[in-house]
Amino acid sequence: MSAFVGAVLGSLVDRAKARTNLDLIENQVVVDLITSQSPTNNENRCLGLYVLDTLTDEVTAIRARFTVLATGGASKVYLYTSNPDIATGDGIAMAWRAGCRIANMEFNQFHPTCLYHPQAGSFLITEAVRGEGGHLKLPNGERFMHLFDERAELAPRDIVARAIDHEMKRLGADYLLLDISHREPEFVRQHFPNIYERCLEFGLDITKEPIPVVPAAHYTCGGVMTDLSGKERLWLSRRSAEPA
Ligand SMILES: Cc1cc2nc3c(=O)[nH]c(=O)nc-3n(C[C@H](O)[C@H](O)[C@H](O)COP(=O)(O)OP(=O)(O)OC[C@H]3O[C@@H](n4cnc5c(N)ncnc54)[C@H](O)[C@@H]3O)c2cc1C
Repeated sequence: MSAFVGAVLGSLVDRAKARTNLDLIENQVVVDLITSQSPTNNENRCLGLYVLDTLTDEVTAIRARFTVLATGGASKVYLYTSNPDIATGDGIAMAWRAGCRIANMEFNQFHPTCLYHPQAGSFLITEAVRGEGGHLKLPNGERFMHLFDERAELAPRDIVARAIDHEMKRLGADYLLLDISHREPEFVRQHFPNIYERCLEFGLDITKEPIPVVPAAHYTCGGVMTDLSGKERLWLSRRSAEPA
């Protein structure tokens, strides 16, 4: 997590904890929504949810007049992702099971360059590395981006990610290379101190050698269909498109 994101989250959590009209319940994973839908019941409402307490392994029910899903994206379904482990699409799946409509799940944004290393987890190599002259290379050291777009490494994110994916599949390669080692070592260390330090932890000196990279699922564009207020009805039958 970047220092900036950490600061935003820290401040938000502190403000939320300071409020007396807000109960924060921690270490709880929502398992499913509770709905009133049954074969004999012709209405369908969300009545609350089941949560798993990760400390006691107990599942309890929480009743709610209104339920807001804010469970993020689903990029963890991909082998490589920039997202944290919680991006499992739980909320989207439970909304679907409850009878909500889901749309545009085929649209995912991929970040072109995530560090490829078994111990690295999800560590992004910023696109600024390409902006500062970094070259994308095949395992044999050849550049290839000019074959895909006249802007080469400076083409937009989707084009670069697709090109890397294409070449990896064509060659059966586990990863490709992002090389900034032709720039002055001091320049590289000054401009990319975090990447330099992090890669060094894995025995990789980016001032001397290329960085192994893979495209990684970054942003889930689809999700639960809602109106402009973020509301969605629970549909009894998605095929009949009749709202409950
Ligand atoms: C590496 C990276 C860099 C990014 N950089 C930027 C940027 O520069 N600018 C920008 O605008 N956006 C950026 N984004 C995107 C931004 O982070 C997301 O769009 C945003 O966080 C989405 O907010 P959200 O509240 O929908 O979901 P999230 O922030 O993912 O929050 C979802 C929450 O739901 C919780 N949750 C999930 N499932 C369950 C469950 N079953 N039970 C209980 N809780 C659950 C999770 O623990 C999490 O706390 C970046 C994302 C990544 C991964």
